[in-house]
Amino acid sequence: MKREGITSIEQEEQRFRAVKRRVYRIALVVSALILLLSWVLRAPDDAFIAHAYLPLALVLAGLGIVAGTRAGPLEKVESAMFFVITALVLARLFWHFHLAGPLADQIMPLAAGHYWAVAALLVGCFVLFDRYRGLAAALAVLAVAVLIAFSGIARDLTGGAVPAEVLGYLLRVHLFLIVLVALASAATVLRDHHRRLLIRAEVLDQWANTDALTGLPNRRAAERVLRRRWLEAQRHERPMSVILLDLDHFKNVNDTYGHATGDRVLEGLGQRLTALLRESDFLARWGGEEFLIVAPETGVREAAHLAERCRAEITNEPIAGVDLTATFGVAEVGSGDDVDTLLARADAMLYAGKEGGRNRVVTAEEASEPSRVAG
Ligand code: GH3
Ligand code: MG
Ligand code: MG
Repeated sequence: MKREGITSIEQEEQRFRAVKRRVYRIALVVSALILLLSWVLRAPDDAFIAHAYLPLALVLAGLGIVAGTRAGPLEKVESAMFFVITALVLARLFWHFHLAGPLADQIMPLAAGHYWAVAALLVGCFVLFDRYRGLAAALAVLAVAVLIAFSGIARDLTGGAVPAEVLGYLLRVHLFLIVLVALASAATVLRDHHRRLLIRAEVLDQWANTDALTGLPNRRAAERVLRRRWLEAQRHERPMSVILLDLDHFKNVNDTYGHATGDRVLEGLGQRLTALLRESDFLARWGGEEFLIVAPETGVREAAHLAERCRAEITNEPIAGVDLTATFGVAEVGSGDDVDTLLARADAMLYAGKEGGRNRVVTAEEASEPSRVAG
């Protein structure tokens, strides 16, 4: 039997992790290919690309494969991915400022490509991590980038003048990076806040619609689902039936075995019925020891058979060590019916079953007296 209208947070998390795995796999493999291409097309005197890109491409491709594996450790892959890409970007920055020749010659490659990589890295911190770790990682990256740049300027300043436009560019770009970190941080705070609200709404929705004892949908959820199923049946002119069942002499169970055992009986009954029903059927705890089954695409005869199978399942074997019987009222949607008249008819059949001696299924043909009494 499928739960309706109630999706679990764990399921959402699983789905989210699966999407992450797919995205990481594609991003890492594409990044590895870009590094490989850069390695092939490198300038002959570019020692950094000649030495660093090939091993890093292999590491990224390896991480991509691990990220895509279902059992692969996702959080470790995220951290490793962050550290490898950070090391690459910052090492390249260091190379430009300290090893690759006069700063004035480096400023074009820095402006054209390198600082964009630093900016992407800063935003990536907030995408990968939650807001605190994201902010810490971004500030650390920014601090190291500033240190590399300004130690590079200091070195060049002592060796000769750094052109004013180079200084101006570096100041502007670092201001831009600080603003970027502030914006990404604010966006992450909003994202986390929104996510918490969604989770809270989801939890409240589950609480409001789930019966705490059995874990089944409660009456509120059942009324909503019943109305929706009834509308669908009307629209498509399809049959649909409801079954109300009530345990017999349940008060005696509580009196004899205690309330705790009574609770375990209700729990066990929920599980037993759930196992018996089809995916498309809907089961809810309607009241104390009363349950509702909504069976779409099911006429009254078929529903009576289903109720009979449930009745046999309850009487065949004790639940929580208690011998039980139950009485069932069955009704099918008829012309001129609404949800309330349908339920009232099933309830009348249940009452007739109790009157008739309990442990039986009583079926209503459309708006008629009990037409079949089995027991
Ligand atoms: P009948 O065959 O006419 O249905 O008799 P009954 O004793 O089952 O009917 P009645 O409605 O008089 O009593 C229902 C009992 O179900 C009374 C109540 O204490 C018990 N009950 C309702 N909800 C719970 C519950 O959550 N846990 C337990 N242990 N008992 C419950
Ligand atoms: Mg009862
Ligand atoms: Mg009752």
